[in-house]
Amino acid sequence: MSAVIQDNQSQAPLVSLRNLNKHYGDFVAVDNISLDIQEGEFLTFLGSSGSGKSTTLSMLAGFETPSSGEILVAGKSLVNVPPHKRDIGMVFQRYSLFPHLNVRDNIGFPLEIRKQARGERERQVEAMLKLVQLEQFAHRRPAQLSGGQQQRVAIARALVYEPRILLMDEPLGALDKKLREDLQDELRHLHRRLGITIVYVTHDQEEAMRLSQRIAIFSHGKIVGLGSGYELYQNPPNAFVASFLGNSNFLKIKAQGHAAASFEGQSLAVRPTVGITEGQELLLMVRPEKAQVLTPQQAGSMPRPAGWNEIQARVAETVFLGESLTCSVTTPGGTQLTLKELSGSTPPLQTGAPVLVRWAAADACVYSQWQESDLSKAAGAH
Ligand code: ADP
Ligand code: MG
Repeated sequence: MSAVIQDNQSQAPLVSLRNLNKHYGDFVAVDNISLDIQEGEFLTFLGSSGSGKSTTLSMLAGFETPSSGEILVAGKSLVNVPPHKRDIGMVFQRYSLFPHLNVRDNIGFPLEIRKQARGERERQVEAMLKLVQLEQFAHRRPAQLSGGQQQRVAIARALVYEPRILLMDEPLGALDKKLREDLQDELRHLHRRLGITIVYVTHDQEEAMRLSQRIAIFSHGKIVGLGSGYELYQNPPNAFVASFLGNSNFLKIKAQGHAAASFEGQSLAVRPTVGITEGQELLLMVRPEKAQVLTPQQAGSMPRPAGWNEIQARVAETVFLGESLTCSVTTPGGTQLTLKELSGSTPPLQTGAPVLVRWAAADACVYSQWQESDLSKAAGAH
């Protein structure tokens, strides 16, 4: 199994973006992006509005020309190839279906302009209708379909000429949450069945996690994190990614040696970190579900395990959410932490009650460089 995975990774990438830039006047929309995409991969560009996702996708599709840099597909430069010769399908948030054509003719349109013979065309359109489960709707016009059905037509139309790469720019953005989740599951299954390469754009982190094998996190025209959702969540490469993907607690600490630090006058164990100097300010990041909140009684009957830290705090607020509850606490030095506990693991806690917060040093990340703006959720938007 692992040998097979390694073989795939050593294959030449299907798509290579090399030092790609896009400027609009003085404004840098895409800032020196380099990225390899493997054949058959489902890769998502995730970032807030204005971070350069659509511009990057448009250059791959051929609707925008790079200011500089290269786009290679299967080793060949695409920069001078017009969009319709790129072997790339595209789906947008606005379905852009032809209102006067029925579902069947909308799906068949790309084959018609490619002058494909009628028999073959009908066969392929039938196959697509089946794939997106719209056989009973083949004679309807777009206005007679729901938003989700219209988007399935747009997906079928993008896939009918069997492009090697499918690009999707916020294709589910106009749909409500339940339908979006159903279509996310359909898309994931479709990708698995067809083995096509998909590059997907979204600003919705949950959607990116549900769909993708890898996620590229965009901020100010750059890719600031790249990996599986699991890797990026468990081990964010920087504080921006930690706060953008999921929730995080940040503690300002000072290095003491290479595996300890001081926090509000107390010594903490931290992951061994190289290249830092004594007394250097560092940032510690703990996910809300990685820390335990204990009453003094609970802490007294459960010794702190080796390699775990314990700090004192007082409850600011608890919010019961069904299977879990969140507990916000404040340390004596005024640091706020929000922790997530499974219901039943923590008794009801009154505001102001003293608690102890514990976490394993191995579960917390340490960063030596960050900006204040990285630490808030809205980071990355222009
Ligand atoms: P995203 O898809 O991540 O929301 P875009 O790639 O659409 O972001 O845009 C990135 C930045 O480039 C934005 O600040 C946007 O305003 C700017 N931009 C995009 N297209 C143009 C254009 N044609 N002219 C000037 N600025 C543009
Ligand atoms: Mg966009």
